[in-house]
Amino acid sequence: MSEDFDFRKWSHKAADWSADYLNTVGDRDVRPKVKPGAIAAQIGNTPPETGESMDAIFKDFENIIPDGMTHWQHPRFFAYFQSNAAPAAQLAEQLATAFASQCMLWQTSPAATELEIKMVDWLRQAVGLPDTFKGSFQDTASSATLCAILTMREIALGFTGNKEGLFGKKPLRVYASSRTHSSIDKAMWISGLGQDNLVKIPTGPAPLFAMDADALKLAIASDKAAGFQPAGIIICVGGTSIGATDNVAEVCAVAREEGLYTHLDAAWAGSAMICEEYRHLWRGAEMADSIVLNPHKWLGVAMECSLHLVREPELLVRTMAIQPEYLKTHGKDGIVNFSEWSVQLGRRFRALKVWFLLRTYGLDGLRQRIRNHVNWAEGLCEKLRNEPQFEIATDPVLSLFSFRHNPQDGRDLDAHNVALVNAINDDGRIYLTQSAHDGMTIIRFVAGQFDMKAEDAEIAFEAITEVAQQLG
Ligand SMILES: *Cc1c(COP(=O)(O)O)cnc(C)c1O
Repeated sequence: MSEDFDFRKWSHKAADWSADYLNTVGDRDVRPKVKPGAIAAQIGNTPPETGESMDAIFKDFENIIPDGMTHWQHPRFFAYFQSNAAPAAQLAEQLATAFASQCMLWQTSPAATELEIKMVDWLRQAVGLPDTFKGSFQDTASSATLCAILTMREIALGFTGNKEGLFGKKPLRVYASSRTHSSIDKAMWISGLGQDNLVKIPTGPAPLFAMDADALKLAIASDKAAGFQPAGIIICVGGTSIGATDNVAEVCAVAREEGLYTHLDAAWAGSAMICEEYRHLWRGAEMADSIVLNPHKWLGVAMECSLHLVREPELLVRTMAIQPEYLKTHGKDGIVNFSEWSVQLGRRFRALKVWFLLRTYGLDGLRQRIRNHVNWAEGLCEKLRNEPQFEIATDPVLSLFSFRHNPQDGRDLDAHNVALVNAINDDGRIYLTQSAHDGMTIIRFVAGQFDMKAEDAEIAFEAITEVAQQLG
């Protein structure tokens, strides 16, 4: 071990610091009161020529960084979707770092590869999918979605795209509801298919705002007539803005009729499928060709950990595998090289934190948290609905709903609700984000922090109603 500093001492110190942080993070403002540039101004402009003491480095860390962070582990973080790192998952991350392992091939980290195969399968069982699904842990849902769109592209082109490029070929079309995540648009850019070939299908009524299957069929038919080649469909369960959820079985039935590849984006909502009572939301998921869900969001696995499941791994691997001579693993039949399942060559050891998490809390412990989040969000939604100056904009999908404040005095409600969400976040007790829905500004509430308690939802009610009243 390098002798420049006492690794053991400082590891203990970091562990103590982390435990203290988690015990007291609820006393902090969720979003820090810092101005842009305030943190950068405290960091030197040039790197040090000679090493410094860890004493000095750690002091600077404590003085500069925590107060400049938005606290994603705060029990009253109700913005975006949560990014949880449960303590047991953090512990596994520390250990994984000690190996500095590079998990691209079986032989570069046999235990990591074999644990990954097992943990992917544990999670597959946990969310109730058939054992025909195999998969890997990718960094983010964006990457898994890109892989799925590349797979659609290659299938549609008879696996000639990687070699020949797209020049001179028929434009390929991909279909998605108008409420899907921007990572789909980005995957269209990066895959070379282009934004204009992502066909956004209108959605049906509240509360699910599902893709209109008739409109989907019409769009496919008119594209074919116009000389385009349909390649695949993206299905959304639990969309980011308001939880929009497509009818998976219905869309997959259309896909099968048309011979199109399907990718189901359940990045947030997928974790809730460990509870049988929520699985109706993705009924038909077993018909999808590719599914992504993010254990690093709701389940408590630290960033980054996206579970990418596919029904026919050969199609994905045929799209993603590149094998220069130095990467070939000779004489080891039947082994899995996970770099052939993703864009990344070098891969972190992600399975360890899944293993630690699932064993520490058990599926029952994780289910209870998710059920609590859903119940507390529903409870808060009803309380706000009963307040005369509040309107529910979209009803809860799992633990996500949206609302607006309406003082009914003819003011511009969009500007007013932007001002309200800013004032709520400056107050510090809770953190919310706004979105747009049907042409209006709405405020989202989503419960999902790992250590959230019922009282945190009560504090949310107080903060929202008090700040709204102060704003007048
Ligand atoms: C969060 C989210 C994504 C993006 O996830 P990353 O892992 O950050 O890439 C995609 N789709 C949906 C529905 C999401 O909620």
